[in-house]
Amino acid sequence: MSHEPRRAGRHFLQIPGPTPVPERILAAMSRQILDHRGLEFQRLGKRVLAGIKSLFKTQGQVIIFPSSGTGAWEAGLTNTLSPGDKVLMCETGQFAVLWEGMASKLGLETDVIPTDWRIGADAALIEQRLREDKAHKIKAVCVVHNETSTGCRTRIDEVRKAMDAAKHPALLMVDTISGIAAADLRHDEWGIDVTVAGSQKGMMLPPGLAFTAISAKAIEASKTAKLKKSYFAWDDMLSMNATGFFPYTPATGLLYGLAEAIDMINEEGLENVLARHERLAEATRRAVVGWGLELQCRDSKYYSPAVTTVVMPEGHNADAYRKIVLDNFNMSLGTGLNKIAGKAFRIGHLGDTNELTIMGALTGVEMGFDLAGVPHKKGGVAAAMSYLAETAANPVKLAAE
Ligand SMILES: *Cc1c(COP(=O)(O)O)cnc(C)c1O
Repeated sequence: MSHEPRRAGRHFLQIPGPTPVPERILAAMSRQILDHRGLEFQRLGKRVLAGIKSLFKTQGQVIIFPSSGTGAWEAGLTNTLSPGDKVLMCETGQFAVLWEGMASKLGLETDVIPTDWRIGADAALIEQRLREDKAHKIKAVCVVHNETSTGCRTRIDEVRKAMDAAKHPALLMVDTISGIAAADLRHDEWGIDVTVAGSQKGMMLPPGLAFTAISAKAIEASKTAKLKKSYFAWDDMLSMNATGFFPYTPATGLLYGLAEAIDMINEEGLENVLARHERLAEATRRAVVGWGLELQCRDSKYYSPAVTTVVMPEGHNADAYRKIVLDNFNMSLGTGLNKIAGKAFRIGHLGDTNELTIMGALTGVEMGFDLAGVPHKKGGVAAAMSYLAETAANPVKLAAE
């Protein structure tokens, strides 16, 4: 039992994942456990394994692991690569740093293209590195689609074009853990070989499921890849999945939730879901500009539809500010990570979010600035409101009586 006094209303969880879970999904998950080798499960297994494909825009297979997104990173690397293989990575932010660290620990050689953490991966630099790699020592290019720490999105279509222009055969691996169902991702069209995602961000589910969309080329690579794996091996998973089952006990409760989440996304329409994220992100950025503050993402080409990272004015600590917002308005904002710790905070606007959720959040941010004495201009919230009203779906003017 908590000894905190009760706080009325709901907590505003505005971090860029995990995100609040809609009632429909909570209800779908609160069911008795079922036999994971039985017919009822088989129907559920087939339903989610088929349904998940459209979120990745793939006709190919999508593996569902009972793990956090990090597990699917590991699976992607160990199933396709061998000890000592070189991988090209782009240090776009904290999640790229973590993926890079994992690759090194697994015995891969990492070739890292640095950035200033204020843009996505630069396709021109990737092309240059690949052209220099005449012997094709680089076996995979790994990029983070939506860099959750900075609010910068990598243009995966441009990365694909760069790889094609360099005529380089490396695999393309994409982390879209915080991008799935928020930022457009086209696994097949963009020729991605391994796309990694997680349940707890744009997909509106609790943490605990990881997804990997894989290409035929990735499956081919997995036949000769020598890095060790067992639990995360694709082959057992793929052969069991063919009949709707899993090689070990799946997270059945979360799969009920997943089936519901897929239905909800299809009912709204995936393209509408993506457009909603773009619109709420734009409203958020207009608020930041209205406050006279700086976006961590310095080039509009790379703006993220899922999260906005805000640079704190010099001399003001972002975490002290976040605590004031939490204590006063019961809202959690995302912390700055690694080299921008204390210097920036993040506003998540992904998953089950609408106009009034984001307006509530932005209002809390602006009131927090007042309370914390953070220098800012008035009018951020007003700018976001105007934009949302101007772009409303059903604008109807009442005639004067
Ligand atoms: C959240 C996140 C991760 C880590 O995923 P876990 O589910 O915490 O393992 C990795 N990459 C990105 C881009 C993320 O947003």
